[in-house]
Amino acid sequence: MERIDLRSDTVTLPSDAMRAAMANALVGDDQYGEDPTVRALQERIATLLGKEAAIFVPSGTMANQIGLKLLTRPGDDVVVGEEAHIVWHESGAAAANSGVQFTVVGHGGLFSAADLRSAFKPPGHIIFPPTTLVAVENTHNRGGGVVFPQAEAVAICAAARELGVATYLDGARLFNTAVATGRSLAELAAPFDVVSVALSKGLGCPVGSVIAGRAADMARAVRARRMFGGAMRQSGILAAAGLYALEHNIARLAEDHANAHLLAERLADAPVEIDLATVQSNIVIFRVPEPLPDAATVVRRAQEQGVLVSAFAARTVRAVTHLNVDATQCRHAAEVLAQAVA
Ligand SMILES: *Cc1c(COP(=O)(O)O)cnc(C)c1O
Repeated sequence: MERIDLRSDTVTLPSDAMRAAMANALVGDDQYGEDPTVRALQERIATLLGKEAAIFVPSGTMANQIGLKLLTRPGDDVVVGEEAHIVWHESGAAAANSGVQFTVVGHGGLFSAADLRSAFKPPGHIIFPPTTLVAVENTHNRGGGVVFPQAEAVAICAAARELGVATYLDGARLFNTAVATGRSLAELAAPFDVVSVALSKGLGCPVGSVIAGRAADMARAVRARRMFGGAMRQSGILAAAGLYALEHNIARLAEDHANAHLLAERLADAPVEIDLATVQSNIVIFRVPEPLPDAATVVRRAQEQGVLVSAFAARTVRAVTHLNVDATQCRHAAEVLAQAVA
């Protein structure tokens, strides 16, 4: 039986052409600044994001953790949207590494400048933890791959600057946002002090994220990366996959978005709760109401038919489209899921 894996866009496998690019990469010891392929990737992404400098790191989680380390002090308060990756999917790293706490605002991962202003706690107060950072996730994973409205991101960052709060963009899926909205990466990144993007999600690389910002911040990020154990050596082998993906795998994300839509539209005809308005990129999240089977049962039934999806909560299922699944497979997966919930 054919296996259709929609658990995540991280399950993508490097293509033969990507592997060839990796095999042929020029490399050197990046800790001596001597890996030309890493340097090329960093420069390319800094340019794409419109930032002064960028550094290559092993994972999106490390990028986020470096961002927190750079922009906060222990005891600080960080404002985030609901169910942010930085809160839910990083094993408590923010508390362990940077000693910060979170204040969650807004709905479905989105929030407004007014939300930031009402959550803001000023520095120098004898009781309050000072709010020193606001973090936006775009697209928002647990929000169902929704695009963070750009006008709101601009307003949030303007309010943050007024309040003396730093701004961070978790852009693990920012390439999806760019393709979904037609906005450039530089425009999406412009309001933020520090931005990260992932190469190992929709872009199909085996490893890697990049964090970008002002040169002075990135110089500090190099030290934080070392502290977190993420300083690498001949990592040009990995960066080569990133350079390949920037060339070949961005525009095609539109196919993943179309496939997610196709999947979501079929599921909207099934007795599940799904908000088609939130299906803006490559993620489909739906809720299976009582008395239908719970998420774990739906996941197991689908798996028996060769379709892999994730149970995101007791009654919530997530499917993610990516470069290793085509429209025919997504149509088939939708039928299997529709039967699994029945
Ligand atoms: C996947 C992801 C990350 C980073 O994940 P890693 O698995 O550590 O590379 C960060 N933020 C968001 C929104 C993500 O979806």
